[in-house]
Amino acid sequence: MIDQKNFIEHIIDEDLKDGFLQSKLKFRFPPEPNGYLHIGHVKAICVNFNLAKKYNTPIVLRFDDTNPEKEEKKYIDAIKKDVTWLGFKWSEERYASDYFQRLFDWAIKLIKNNKAYVESQSSEQIAQQKGTPTLLGQNSPFRDRSIEENLELFYKMKEGSCDEGAHVLRAKINMSSPNMLMRDPVIYRVLKKSHPRTKNKWVVYPMYDWAHGESDYIEQISHSLCTLEFEPHRELYDWFLDQIVEKDKIRPKQREFARLNLSHTITSKRKLLHLVEEGCVLGWDDPRMPTISGLRRRGYPPEALVAFVNTVGVAKRENTIEASLLEFCAREELNKTSKRVMVVLDPVKIVITNYPKEKTELISSENNPENPESGSREIPFSNEVFIEREDFKPEANRKFFRLTLGKEVRLKSAYIICANEVVYDNNQNIIQINCTYDPLSKSGSGTLESQRKVKGTLHWVSKKEAIKVEVREYDRLFLDPSPSLAKNNTELTEMLNPSSVSSVAAFAEPSLLNSQEGDQFQFQRKGYFVVDRDSEAHNLVFNKTVSLRDNWKKA
Ligand code: ATP
Ligand code: MG
Repeated sequence: MIDQKNFIEHIIDEDLKDGFLQSKLKFRFPPEPNGYLHIGHVKAICVNFNLAKKYNTPIVLRFDDTNPEKEEKKYIDAIKKDVTWLGFKWSEERYASDYFQRLFDWAIKLIKNNKAYVESQSSEQIAQQKGTPTLLGQNSPFRDRSIEENLELFYKMKEGSCDEGAHVLRAKINMSSPNMLMRDPVIYRVLKKSHPRTKNKWVVYPMYDWAHGESDYIEQISHSLCTLEFEPHRELYDWFLDQIVEKDKIRPKQREFARLNLSHTITSKRKLLHLVEEGCVLGWDDPRMPTISGLRRRGYPPEALVAFVNTVGVAKRENTIEASLLEFCAREELNKTSKRVMVVLDPVKIVITNYPKEKTELISSENNPENPESGSREIPFSNEVFIEREDFKPEANRKFFRLTLGKEVRLKSAYIICANEVVYDNNQNIIQINCTYDPLSKSGSGTLESQRKVKGTLHWVSKKEAIKVEVREYDRLFLDPSPSLAKNNTELTEMLNPSSVSSVAAFAEPSLLNSQEGDQFQFQRKGYFVVDRDSEAHNLVFNKTVSLRDNWKKA
């Protein structure tokens, strides 16, 4: 039998075997509210929420809001919206900022135990003395300050009588540690910024490492799961816990898994922010962005994102997943759920010369052959219809299964037509194709003619009733498969695909008229599309989510 468990589940199972109580398991997802969540976060969300579901234990959504310079309420709201949209429910909503007092009290305890000191050198001096992985660090001249002086200075920092940067609080660990993070890390700094939640109450703010592990402890998280880049932080995480853990309390365990990297895009908030600020995209929810909000606007269903990260799985080794796998997951889902409709993106006019001029009849067409319960709808048919320009060639070889002069094709759900004559303008552009139809060939009419096999079936819309819509098509945001390797922002910008978006005016069947933002469709033979929020009542805008097939493999 195949072992379906991932390595984190094995770790947990070992812990349970060793006597850890299943009822004490607890997980958390801890985003910093300094930007929008991206596809990488979907992995972290699924890892934690899936475990909570599997072991039937609580899960905390914790906002790691310890840096008021970068964090905003709007990000908190967006994160909650995204996690909910993905289909997950947290059992507790927490904020690291709720723990500021406790974290401060523990810092006092560190000072009293001679495990922390106030540093009064500049950040440059601190960095210089820190050494390198091959060069030992040097002790700060302030390392041996008396406990009394440290306490006095730290309270002054807290009261706001020190300037930003004048002093910081450092843990007193080991300036010769082979782990650079253990070389007396800074745990508090002065920031005279209003915090989205605590406003002006605090001017000293804890650093990430100090706040993170201690927040896990306060919430009694059993397994604190993060990405591999935090592996070197684990030693510090454990050292901080050593300073505060009490008997009979759960001591959280940090374990690391591989980040999700996706080809042709970036999964770093900082770099995504750069794209937004430089105007390379139209915002965090630009349909080309790998953010959850961008993917949603592009038409990716939440089920597809979850299926994607579950397919990728949880491992300990970093790798890059092909963007085409994400597209495949979207197709799989949309094929089951989207209503089929006909939209012509690049129209050329067909005139059916033997069809009554004033007549319009209604043609019935299935909404989704994958889902019999979805029913059918009626589409108007008349003597003038649009088809795709690329679906006609006056002459073509035998492999062209579309319309050519003297040959027949079926208009989807309607009649078989035969092309007889092409009308050109003065520049030799085709402006009209004159055809005749076989009145006995109507789809579903049961006649012998209606069952006649022809080589191609084309989508179409009746010219008179067609509605004009805007269709936006997207290409990959980066031409380079590995933009995350860019050394700096200039290089990153150079890797952008200069033509990753295009827009056309298309003709759609009238059933689309009352569509709402977020409605999803399969435009037959063209791909999956979603109604964009830029739409207005008489000016619908569609985003192409993904084509029906993977066109990139060929390229
Ligand atoms: P970024 O580096 O993109 O700014 P972050 O790590 O700072 O992201 P946080 O909001 O602090 O973002 O992360 C919340 C959680 O999501 C963390 O546990 C982090 O390890 C995880 N995470 C972030 N990016 C990825 C990724 N690409 N794959 C898997 N997990 C990720
Ligand atoms: Mg990060």
